[in-house]
Amino acid sequence: SVMRDERIKRTKTVCTYCGVGCSFDVWTKDRKILKVEPNIEAPANGISTCIKGKFGWDYVNSEERLTKPLIREGDAFREAEWEEALSLIANKFTEIKQKYGPDSLSFISSSKCTNEESYLMQKLARGVIGTNNVDNCSRYCQTPATVGLFRTVGYGGDAGSIKDIEMSDLVLIIGSNTSESHPVLSTRVKRSHKLRGQKLIVADLRKHEMADRSDVFIQPKAGTDFVWLSAVTKYIFDKGWADENFLRNHVNGRDEFAASLHMYTIEYAEQVTGIPAAELIKVAEMIYNAKTVSALWAMGVTQHSGGSDTSTAISNLLLVTGNYMKPGAGAYPLRGHNNVQGASDFGSMPDRLPGYERVADPAVRAKYEKVWGVPIPEQPGLNNHDMVEGIHAGTLKAMYVKGEEMGIVDSNINYVHEAYQKLDFFVVQDIFFSRTAQFADVVLPACPSLEKDGTFTNTERRIQRLYKALEPLGDSKPDWQIIMEIANRLGAGWNYSHPAEIMDEAAMLSPIYAGVSYERLEGYKSLQWPVAEDGTDQPLLYTKGFPFPDGKANLVPVAWTPPLVFSKEYDIHVNNGRLLEHFHEGNMTYKSKGITEKVPKVFLEVSPELADERGLQDGTLVRLSSPYGNVKVQCLVTDRVKGKEVYLPMNDSGDAAINLLTSSYADKDTDTPAYKEVSAKLEILSAE
Ligand code: SF4
Repeated sequence: SVMRDERIKRTKTVCTYCGVGCSFDVWTKDRKILKVEPNIEAPANGISTCIKGKFGWDYVNSEERLTKPLIREGDAFREAEWEEALSLIANKFTEIKQKYGPDSLSFISSSKCTNEESYLMQKLARGVIGTNNVDNCSRYCQTPATVGLFRTVGYGGDAGSIKDIEMSDLVLIIGSNTSESHPVLSTRVKRSHKLRGQKLIVADLRKHEMADRSDVFIQPKAGTDFVWLSAVTKYIFDKGWADENFLRNHVNGRDEFAASLHMYTIEYAEQVTGIPAAELIKVAEMIYNAKTVSALWAMGVTQHSGGSDTSTAISNLLLVTGNYMKPGAGAYPLRGHNNVQGASDFGSMPDRLPGYERVADPAVRAKYEKVWGVPIPEQPGLNNHDMVEGIHAGTLKAMYVKGEEMGIVDSNINYVHEAYQKLDFFVVQDIFFSRTAQFADVVLPACPSLEKDGTFTNTERRIQRLYKALEPLGDSKPDWQIIMEIANRLGAGWNYSHPAEIMDEAAMLSPIYAGVSYERLEGYKSLQWPVAEDGTDQPLLYTKGFPFPDGKANLVPVAWTPPLVFSKEYDIHVNNGRLLEHFHEGNMTYKSKGITEKVPKVFLEVSPELADERGLQDGTLVRLSSPYGNVKVQCLVTDRVKGKEVYLPMNDSGDAAINLLTSSYADKDTDTPAYKEVSAKLEILSAE
């Protein structure tokens, strides 16, 4: 709405920084951001925000924003007009498609972009180029959780709302640095713990803030969560504490699953994980005694070679104890990016169309073919990981990446950079000239969330609208418009005049969005999918049963995959994760003055024991080397970590970028990189 001073505007938006999905009003005057004002109607956060949501916006006016398309000329780039850049892209895509076939091209959507933009990206890949080679960065974080849930309970989404986590009797947090990664959600848990006597169990390598506040903190050896989860589940069965009534009525596979746990005794788990038997028994007792349990997990679980299986084990444990189908219970994989949920929900996945319908299903394809008027390729496409391999193998020739800093956030980035150099044609669309853009042939200037309309879906499956607060800077354009212009130059004939029309199309095609429309999402209104045609949404995902033919969930037997260890000389385990103040590689937050003044760069957390042994102090500059590369970083001695465990925040895109160390090793079921399975040797470069 327009205020007295005509140039002062208040616009509702959704935070662009994490999956909690805080919404608020942003006050602007021309391009100046005056303030962020929380609104009591905001469904996920009410009047709360964290430092990033409140102060992390000046990147939109950064001098470094891209404002013109860029075209490579030799080793340099020159500015170009849209017409020239788009024609070049259309010509190159056509040429490569004709020469090598549609599967020689690939498309990456972004979890920072809107749902509508992810919808269009997969539509471009499938419906215009004719390939299922489309993925998004949830491949780097959350796909294993999604797969664990697909297998067991059927939907790849949180079982309830943040409110359910708040009203749980017991919250179990596994491999999630919740207070830094999902700040506003963590305050709900802290409040409930303090005021309602909610119990809190934390399992992590690192004694972070939630661990400090927990009732029981278990510190498993790296990569062993699967083992203690299985032992606790077995103990619950053995004691006769399983919810047999729930299993009988709602779950298949009980006996086979129970038998599969035979080797996971408490003694075995103690030996493998290093967690004392008494603590494991305490955990089992607490889960048994709680009326409702919510399990929260994140990348400490998923970014392992057995990430999907450990996610499955968490869901299995919840099923065995009857912790689904009731308020205050269930599985809550915490989605990282603001729209990591939506990017997958809207079909930017190589094997799923929007709403997770399978591309291999002829009936589903027929439905899309009818509306889009083109054949949909049947074979699932390449995921991010396969794409890098495909480029190295010479079969993948072109790539179009929007809003993803893959050249920093993918694992083993030296190897990824070598791949980029082999591409025949590379298009990068971003708001900044990213590290990835340095390898591009064409760079397209896109708009950040404040400059466009659309929707984001938060970790609770909650779809919320964001409204345009600012005009696009310079010649930049919203991502959806750019994708449409490329598609149309390839002959698609799309004519969306507003993202609302894209949502209408998705709602028509995908049953989980049947009742979604922009009118029903007006202002602070929101909907949690699946949404029935009459607009009824589902805050609690499983009420009557599970989305399988017989309505029953599955207990799925899985086995432990021990973590990768490099050879003995790499004796330091390098854990990694987020810092509260920064977002991912930092392309946005390092351009925010308020934030960088507080935390100008990352540091390496080392334990007092390791500091003693190696003579490290706060500020000592060290080099960590793995077989794949090395980083340089200053130390911070802290008892948050112990022994030879170190913690390197992932928020750096220079000399301390974690993915200079990581390997191409990945979760066997999803190809999600095993970012957490990194060891290194440490040497001192200088002492300060
Ligand atoms: Fe943004 Fe997440 Fe902070 Fe909320 S908790 S303000 S969504 S970064």
